[in-house]
Amino acid sequence: MTVVVLALDALDAGLVDYFDLDAVRLGSGGEIETFANTQDVPYTPEVWATVATGLEPAEHGITGGGTSEWENPALDLASTVTGHLDESTRGTLGKLVRSRTGTRERIGETDRESMFDADDAVVHNWPGVHDGEPLQRAWDLMNAVAEGMSRSEFERELFGLCAQQFGWAREMLEHPVSIAGVHVHTLDAAGHAYADDEAALRRAYGRVGGFVEEVADALGEDDDLLVVSDHGMRTAFYPPDDGEKPASHSWRAYASSTAETCPESVYDVRAWVEERAKGSATATGTDEGIDMPTDRLRELGYLD
Ligand SMILES: [Zn+2]
Repeated sequence: MTVVVLALDALDAGLVDYFDLDAVRLGSGGEIETFANTQDVPYTPEVWATVATGLEPAEHGITGGGTSEWENPALDLASTVTGHLDESTRGTLGKLVRSRTGTRERIGETDRESMFDADDAVVHNWPGVHDGEPLQRAWDLMNAVAEGMSRSEFERELFGLCAQQFGWAREMLEHPVSIAGVHVHTLDAAGHAYADDEAALRRAYGRVGGFVEEVADALGEDDDLLVVSDHGMRTAFYPPDDGEKPASHSWRAYASSTAETCPESVYDVRAWVEERAKGSATATGTDEGIDMPTDRLRELGYLD
């Protein structure tokens, strides 16, 4: 059996109800507890590193100020300063620094153990744990929107990335995998772009809901699916956000699972997932190698 964990950034518990998004109501779950550390509201890399490790930011080391590992040590100060700004501002500053120095901002990765270190567990991309590149691409996209990228190009890029991530998760159900995790930044980017455009954000939620349904439909009898978010997103049209700044992170993190229970806090996710995955039947016997005709590949120049 496989536990699939879809880390849907900024999936907002209030908006799930407001948009009546049944596709992400999997059985049990609802709003869950999250936390803020370096900012007033939950900050993406800090929370996802906690979700994967079960540890406080002080323990996993992925904190706002240390989120960026600039390749140029002289830029450490800039990195510390930008850690306290919101993500879109950070993107702009990151781009500025890149254009002046040619260096590229990277999201740090914890060296602490995570749920993806379990036997036969796999992870596609997960902020603070494995491959921050897709999150960087989503931040770059938000930056491009701020600089005038068209709506159709933004959505094409954003949902193209989203489809790859969901497609990977669905494929993992065909393999002897205990835990499969992927972080999807679509609703955070859409939430920042469409915080005052109810129809557009509703559509984005509907698209993501459709992808969740495809994974849910592909589950085997023993498989489990967990969708979880790190925070929600305040909007101009959601009545409880009246008086708040639209496009800022809300405290309405969400989780839902196909199992009878569901984590109640971002700190509980790792233990919950590992408990569900325990004793899962994965690769049987010895995993054989492949007898590949290397001579032919050498002729083709594919091998040295
Ligand atoms: Zn986030």
